[in-house]
Amino acid sequence: EEIESLVHRHPDKLSMEKISSKNRGYGAEMTVVTYCQNRKESDDRSKFRILLSFGQHGRELITTELALRLLSILSEEEFLPNMDRAALNKTLNKLVIKVVPMENWNGRKLVEAGELCERRNGRGVDLNRNWSVDWGKKEKDYDPYEENPGTAPFSEPETQIMRKLSVSFEPHVWVNVHSGMEALFMPYDHKNITPVGLPSKMMTSMLEVMNHFHLKDHCIIGSGGGSVGLVLNHIKILSTLILLFIWGEFSFVETKKKRISNLTFLNSFCSVSTDY
Ligand SMILES: [Zn+2]
Repeated sequence: EEIESLVHRHPDKLSMEKISSKNRGYGAEMTVVTYCQNRKESDDRSKFRILLSFGQHGRELITTELALRLLSILSEEEFLPNMDRAALNKTLNKLVIKVVPMENWNGRKLVEAGELCERRNGRGVDLNRNWSVDWGKKEKDYDPYEENPGTAPFSEPETQIMRKLSVSFEPHVWVNVHSGMEALFMPYDHKNITPVGLPSKMMTSMLEVMNHFHLKDHCIIGSGGGSVGLVLNHIKILSTLILLFIWGEFSFVETKKKRISNLTFLNSFCSVSTDY
């Protein structure tokens, strides 16, 4: 609701759509907010495209709060300390940003009803295990309850919506924001290595710069598949994201295929084993 009224207050920069999908008697709905300094240019394919998704796991409440704060900053209702707004606006002018504040709304409802450590969707599937890459593969620490991958790849309406969104938007950068650990993850998530080549090196170096200058070297950096730890606070994450915008000139991310994100920012909520 807060996000909806924020969008209504800034029709020049923000727009919102609701996407729903249904199968086997189970339906899901997702809100997608699009930011573009001049809303009319939001389909301009020459702009650099960023997709930010939050709340993939129901119990990671703070990530959706972060989405709201980020949108408040983008719409200039809130401001970051020590930030040169003119320089930021110059960068933002080159971007279209799509924000999914709550990917797993049904799971979130379960958490709000008292299932405080529920991470799965409304019918018990982990949306971060429902993509096609290495679907159903069981790692050593596999937890069949927490990481239920569903009956097949893309069996869940939420995953189908995210796939459609990523295929149509074709983001240069996709950040999937989680909470519960202090880590900056990059591909690959399905194996314990990072990709070879210049884009991967640039991404590593970007994460190292972010970690050093904005996160006091608290975070571990590496492939999501190579397990990580520690804790961020969301203000720090915001500055991290802003830095990402500034670095956004570089098109270094493979998108639209993995079962998860390109980078993963994590924060704390439940003391459980798996957060991404
Ligand atoms: Zn998570």
